[in-house]
Amino acid sequence: MFSSVLLAAALFQAPIAIQGAVDTELGPLIEALGNPEPRDIQGFRFWEGRIHGTRVVVSRTEVGMVHAAMATTILNQEYGPRLIINQGTAGGVNPELRTGDIVLGRASVAFGSLRTTQRKRGDGIDIDSWEALPVLLREGNERVRYESFAADAALLRAALEVPYAGGQLVQGVVGSADQWNREVDKLLWAHEVYGIDSEDMESASVHQVAHIYGIPFLAIRIISNSEHHDSQFRPEVGTDCAKFTIEVVKALGVAH
Ligand code: SAH
Repeated sequence: MFSSVLLAAALFQAPIAIQGAVDTELGPLIEALGNPEPRDIQGFRFWEGRIHGTRVVVSRTEVGMVHAAMATTILNQEYGPRLIINQGTAGGVNPELRTGDIVLGRASVAFGSLRTTQRKRGDGIDIDSWEALPVLLREGNERVRYESFAADAALLRAALEVPYAGGQLVQGVVGSADQWNREVDKLLWAHEVYGIDSEDMESASVHQVAHIYGIPFLAIRIISNSEHHDSQFRPEVGTDCAKFTIEVVKALGVAH
């Protein structure tokens, strides 16, 4: 009886959505689905199937905040996922992170959102006076301030338990913007002002959309470059992140 309930849950449960921006971040996931025929919507690609019996939809968001928000909106309307994992490569912002380490985002911050102080022509640029602007979300008649969006606690706990041999597995704050920062002082500033540990170009955007739809979310980001250590971008570590994400899906099973 109990096992048939579990079987029914596995067959009819809404899918888990897993996103990556570029093909190197998606390869192992599409393979794990058994290389199904993709479906294209407005240039955004989706693959549907099962990983260890769990329904999964894999989504290629393309690079950048607007693309990621759009891909997630289409995902939600077309597939109604029960949770969303955004995964892929990231730059190290926290000096303690090195290439190969994985950050599980306990929160996400869009760190491109800021206001400068007024300065006249020739007065230059003063990053120390820049102020983070929160996201204002319409909730009924109110506009509610969000400095970050929090990951689903159960998802985060489950992912933290998954073995990973490629480096450190830590929880942290993932930052996103349409930026690739290579100035160490700017990275240290972002670490201090926004509290971010890594930078990418999608996860905070997806997290905001997931929050609006009320869908549990987790970002899984692997460090592929760090100006604090090895500034060489190693996109191939995206494959390791996808493999780790498959293990997370297996660990989640039908329980989540
Ligand atoms: N060759 C790729 C380039 C991707 S680079 C292409 O065909 O477009 C941008 C991607 O890498 C983004 O999806 C971003 O999330 C991630 N990324 C990795 N390191 C980053 C960093 N230091 N800063 C910002 N984004 C980074």
